[in-house]
Amino acid sequence: MRVAKTVSADSDRIIRGLVVVVMPVFVIQILLVMYGELRSPNYSQPEIAVVLIGTWIVLSAYHYFRPLKSSRDILGRFIAFEALALVTIMIVTGFFQPFIAALLLLFVAAEHYFGDRGFIASVLGVVIAAGLDTIVRAPSQPEIIQQNLMATVAVLTLAIILQSILDSQKTRRSALAHSRRQERLQYDRISTIMNNMTDATFSTDSKGTIQLYNAACLNLLDTNRDLKGVTISELFELTNGDGKKIRLNSLLKKAHRTTYRDDLRHTYPDGEIIRLEITYAPIKSTYGTKGRTTENGYVVIARDITKMKSLEEERDEFISVVSHELRTPITIAEGTLSNLQLIVERSDKMDKKVAASTIKTAHDQIVYLAKMVNDLSTLSRAERGVADTQEDIDVSEMIHHLHRQYQSEAAAKNLKLDLDMPTKPGQVHASRLYLEELLQNFITNAIKYTNEGSIRVVARRHDGKVRFDVTDTGIGISRSDQEKIFNKFYRSEDYRIRETGGTGLGLYVSSKLARKLGTKIEVTSRLNHGSTFSFELPLID
Ligand code: ADP
Repeated sequence: MRVAKTVSADSDRIIRGLVVVVMPVFVIQILLVMYGELRSPNYSQPEIAVVLIGTWIVLSAYHYFRPLKSSRDILGRFIAFEALALVTIMIVTGFFQPFIAALLLLFVAAEHYFGDRGFIASVLGVVIAAGLDTIVRAPSQPEIIQQNLMATVAVLTLAIILQSILDSQKTRRSALAHSRRQERLQYDRISTIMNNMTDATFSTDSKGTIQLYNAACLNLLDTNRDLKGVTISELFELTNGDGKKIRLNSLLKKAHRTTYRDDLRHTYPDGEIIRLEITYAPIKSTYGTKGRTTENGYVVIARDITKMKSLEEERDEFISVVSHELRTPITIAEGTLSNLQLIVERSDKMDKKVAASTIKTAHDQIVYLAKMVNDLSTLSRAERGVADTQEDIDVSEMIHHLHRQYQSEAAAKNLKLDLDMPTKPGQVHASRLYLEELLQNFITNAIKYTNEGSIRVVARRHDGKVRFDVTDTGIGISRSDQEKIFNKFYRSEDYRIRETGGTGLGLYVSSKLARKLGTKIEVTSRLNHGSTFSFELPLID
């Protein structure tokens, strides 16, 4: 839309300019002929000359003040001007005048609006008019043949020169338009690629001033401002692993090939820090440098890898803690078993008591190892989402099943395992495995950490949800421990806890399971009075 307007405005200006020049040239020429300053064999009647002057002025004024409407309008005006010029030449001024060159301006306009055809038509018009003029006047004015011939040759020569100039300009214009189109296409291609990249991608000049960037850049930098023209260093507040400040521009200057770094951190204005992976490369230009390459800017691709890095660190730490935790029971089991082997080999009569206690120690450690491996595999299942399949679960049925399952374990410690389910709570839609494992963890802990009293499993309807509580009258958890019990491998320092076997993984796994189920675990506890572990799940209507 904008382009079309510009073109028509330009053309309008050109044709108006030509009128301004052509009209006075012809009017002055007529006046010079009328006052005898210019000799013309064609001039005879002053009245016609005056009418022609009037026509020139009226037509030009009309043309000047009435904007061009359509191509037909342009053609009409054009024919009118051409005709008026030829009539003026034939009746008043004659062909053999230097002012004839003014016709060239009309040729330019014809070529501008109607291309080569318009140009040729205008030239032919002049040649035909010259021919007619010669035929009509030659019998009375024989010198007219030579004059008109010279004028026509002059006009044709000038026309050919003009045509070739216009042609070369046209070629240059079209080459320019073609290269602009190519450039635009190239630009569109690059913008499409960049805008479809999920990584923040900048293209800068050799001074690090941003020329192009994609939407991901704004997301990464958490800004809405226009980044074009901004120096890239101003946008990144970079530090390396040792906390040393890094200027991105200095990195770019040193980069003579693609460089990758994942040790950088960016600090946002509010102090938040993210880990960045940055790939940067110089843009090498070979254009106009005769085989040499020069660096004309840089491409910088940045990505937030905070999450990936923290997962990586968490995984490394986890592996190191797990291997440490596993080493102790393995060493103990291995030590006791090799002791037992020595005892068996050396003594004829084996002390049964010593042997039994050695085997028990080894067995306890193996049980501990089995429990840990079990917890680890539950954890890995939850993290990989293996048992994510959800189903409709009848809460009452599940709670009764768990109650039956743990009845004997509680009874073995002289504990009562009560059920509190006033009405049937209904159904929930969740992963059966996750929900069962979560409740099992709470119940086994309650039994483990309660020496006398009871354990109560509660499932109640509450605001369209079912609330699960596992309450015990056990040793309780101190306030400071309540904050830590969900950490992996955490076990309270309390001697009563240390007396029981445990991995410190159960509640860590539970918190992961709760997150998978879309809920959160609440703990209320008082040291030496007991604890309650609770969570809620939405009921199906
Ligand atoms: P584990 O029971 O194997 O030690 P958990 O992750 O299940 O590991 O529990 C972590 C810690 O939380 C326990 O070591 C214990 O200190 C505390 N804890 C968990 N449940 C109870 C409970 N019902 N009563 C008292 N302390 C508990």
